[in-house]
Amino acid sequence: MRIVEIRERTAPIASSIANAYIDFSKMTLSLVAVVTDVKRDGRTVVGYGFNSNGRYGQGGLIRERFAPRVLEAEPKALLNDAGDNLDPDRIWAALMKNEKPGGHGERSVAVGTIDMAVWDAVAKIAGKPLFRLLAERHRREANPRVFVYAAGGYYYPGKGVEQLRAEMRSYLDRGYTVVKMKIGNSLDEDRPRIEAVLKELDGKARLAVDANGRLSLEEAIGYAKMLRDYPLFWYEEAGDPLDFTLQAALAEFYPGPMATGENLFSHQDARNLLRYGGMRPDRDWLQFDCALSYGLCEYQRTLAALDVAGWSRSRCIPHGGHQMSLNIAAGLGLGGNESYPDLFQPYGGFPDSVRVSDSHIVMPELPGIGFEGKSDLIKVMRELAK
Ligand SMILES: [Mg+2]
Repeated sequence: MRIVEIRERTAPIASSIANAYIDFSKMTLSLVAVVTDVKRDGRTVVGYGFNSNGRYGQGGLIRERFAPRVLEAEPKALLNDAGDNLDPDRIWAALMKNEKPGGHGERSVAVGTIDMAVWDAVAKIAGKPLFRLLAERHRREANPRVFVYAAGGYYYPGKGVEQLRAEMRSYLDRGYTVVKMKIGNSLDEDRPRIEAVLKELDGKARLAVDANGRLSLEEAIGYAKMLRDYPLFWYEEAGDPLDFTLQAALAEFYPGPMATGENLFSHQDARNLLRYGGMRPDRDWLQFDCALSYGLCEYQRTLAALDVAGWSRSRCIPHGGHQMSLNIAAGLGLGGNESYPDLFQPYGGFPDSVRVSDSHIVMPELPGIGFEGKSDLIKVMRELAK
């Protein structure tokens, strides 16, 4: 049993949206296929992965550095003790050979993308949904019903409040009871947007707001003073992701729930947030995204750091809207997952059979991560592996 090939293609996921920090006009991602020599049901087992939106494709790093390390490793050294499956942690160690500590920036995305494909292959070889495999490995009970919320509400050029309201209405119509919109351009611009959306939601859904790290300490406090008058689901990523003092200071001005962590790319950075960011385990939310931060092997270390810090993993609702985090949520007891009903297709979203009801989905029993259940996605994946 061995990995015979790792393929990568950088694909566009461009759109005309913008948050307070970046636009997505040139956004790309890396799609990866890990091809094995294993057959299941007459078909070669191929694991697939991709990185989350918001960071760009990692083709250079994957092709020049990370894929060769796996392919150069002794194949037996990448198997589990029983020799009947690949071992994700041993593959992860091969990926990270001769990498110095610290500086988690782009390589964490490249490694996270390959790691997703490896876990997909491992679960397919085991013939199980990844969330069931994870629950077994951690001696937990899986819960296939997962909370999801609708992320959107971007700044579209020329988009008025009426279109924003219509977008939010459409999420309600699709079964969501928690929705999210972008903020951070200015108080004057955002106050009427927020009030219009709350009016549209009319108490039938909760609203989260996301500043995408745009705000200075003074601005973040200004927003906190405005936002605390509204019954928000959370106030997300007010300031720079590594400015833990800013995050800690905000708690004095904002008693409601806050969320952050999508731009922290290692368990060490996550641990620093818990140590120094003033986050409150009884109400705040952690959004670390394995597909940007060295993958599930590393995410398990992040969850261990949460345990040590006295945090429940049910406070984790990852960024990214991909099926990998849905599996982790269902298998390891996270609080839910982000979803982008209208964006970043075909990569984000759910298998075709899945419907959102009361802001929850139920995981189908598909081997691996479940990409084969999403017809538009598996089509582009199989083209890469062909
Ligand atoms: Mg965000």
